[in-house]
Amino acid sequence: MSLNKNKNIFDCLIIGGGVIGCSIARYLSRFKLNAILLEKHSDVCEEVSSANSAIVHSGYDPKPGTLKAKFNVLGNKMMEQVCKELDVPYIKNGSLTIGFNEDDKLTLLDLVERAKKNGVDARFIEKEELHELEPILNEECKYALLAKDSAIVSPFELTVGFMENAMDNGINLALNSEVINIKRDEETGLYHVYTKNNDEYITKSLVNATGLYSDKITSLIEKPKYEIIPRKGEYILLDHFNQNFVKHTLFMCPTKVGKGVLVSPTTSFNYIVGPSNELTSIYDTSTDSFTLNEIKKVASKLIKNIPYGEVIRTFAGTRPNPDIDDFIIEESKENPLFFNVGGIMSPGLASSPAIGEYVSNLIQAKLNFEQNKNYNPERRKVLKLSSLGKEQYNELIKKNPAYGHIICRCEKVSEGEIIDSIHRNCGARTIKGIKKRLRAGFGKCQGCFCQDEVLKILARELNVNINQICYKDEGSEILKYPSKGE
Ligand SMILES: Cc1cc2nc3c(=O)[nH]c(=O)nc-3n(C[C@H](O)[C@H](O)[C@H](O)COP(=O)(O)OP(=O)(O)OC[C@H]3O[C@@H](n4cnc5c(N)ncnc54)[C@H](O)[C@@H]3O)c2cc1C
Repeated sequence: MSLNKNKNIFDCLIIGGGVIGCSIARYLSRFKLNAILLEKHSDVCEEVSSANSAIVHSGYDPKPGTLKAKFNVLGNKMMEQVCKELDVPYIKNGSLTIGFNEDDKLTLLDLVERAKKNGVDARFIEKEELHELEPILNEECKYALLAKDSAIVSPFELTVGFMENAMDNGINLALNSEVINIKRDEETGLYHVYTKNNDEYITKSLVNATGLYSDKITSLIEKPKYEIIPRKGEYILLDHFNQNFVKHTLFMCPTKVGKGVLVSPTTSFNYIVGPSNELTSIYDTSTDSFTLNEIKKVASKLIKNIPYGEVIRTFAGTRPNPDIDDFIIEESKENPLFFNVGGIMSPGLASSPAIGEYVSNLIQAKLNFEQNKNYNPERRKVLKLSSLGKEQYNELIKKNPAYGHIICRCEKVSEGEIIDSIHRNCGARTIKGIKKRLRAGFGKCQGCFCQDEVLKILARELNVNINQICYKDEGSEILKYPSKGE
């Protein structure tokens, strides 16, 4: 079969459109260069970055001196400003890591010392202050570590925001482009990257940011020095029934097995309870009632009466844990200008801006790009009806009635907002794409009322047949044949 050779020689090619690849793309766009990001799915943010706890960890937990500690602390400091620039939901709600007995107290005091070494503001608090901060906690909750710089963020909007801003500043994106082979031309030093749809790309530098597959992608060109051991985390998601149910992110005191179950608000004031921590096959998003019941048992140590009548769905994410306990962020010694950014487990989301900036600087130091004089760190604001006052809203509807046509009743999302999200750079192409960007279909009815309307708008705006619109990737078309009248 013949190859579709891309005539360009790219300065940089990034494989993987998760939060890490998209952040690297965004920070690379500060320089004058010709770069492209390849993603195997029909959208960015489809794997690890799309199903996690969404916590911008403060950084008290990672072992001092590790890359995890360095990038977590820096990423936490950068995140608020980054979210302002990209117009991404972010709330600095603080975290409480809860202890129940004297052993936990010792662990928490050790963590305070670790926080000091990492340069993180965290302090030990006793029961009275703890219950003043979170009155809903069980009586048995006795101690806590308070980390006031911990925050929550929308991982979908952050990833899309990074990529949209990268594209606004000149970076290219190729979706549905699964990399299956890489070769380095020893004479020219250029990398030839081949995709499943028979495209060939040539590039001077190459970044591997493929999450769960980062060891496999490295093995296309050299022996990886780590192996990914995926671990699944299941969650229970509650509706936004009460903005004050829980204000902080509540962690259990950590054990050797990990950070344990947490209860936390999300930026849309839903609540998550979870995750579990199970060995799994590669990328597994299934949930099961046994594990969910175990999660409920553990969470009941924190709060007795979590209103599970408010549950709207369960979900799972898979951790890309490497068998060495740290991030892998380095240029290959065997293959110059091949950068591995793999094994980015938690706190990878919190670390993402710092990793993006660091990796793009590594590449810049090698290839000496000029500054991009037109670089604009600010993304065009995402118009959200929920943020408007009544008068502003009425004015908007007068100008454009599509903003008065509510499509998703649960999350109050209008046709105007959906149209806008389709026509931006890195715009939505699928039902899930709309859901990730605007929350249409995220609410109590889980899309029962709005999915057919969203389907029609996507087909109309993208100018394609309605039976070509997918839930997610090709093969997940909603309609097999055009329905009556379409
Ligand atoms: C249960 C759970 C809870 C977590 N909680 C937190 C938290 O609260 N805070 C925090 O900071 N971190 C958390 N994390 C970690 C965080 O989610 C990850 O560190 C981060 O999302 C990793 O991003 P990534 O871009 O490396 O991976 P991904 O998001 O998986 O992106 C990799 C991309 O590469 C693409 N790809 C793979 N192979 C190919 C190929 N051959 N060709 C083209 N594209 C390819 C994939 O489709 C994918 O889109 C959690 C993770 C899990 C699973």
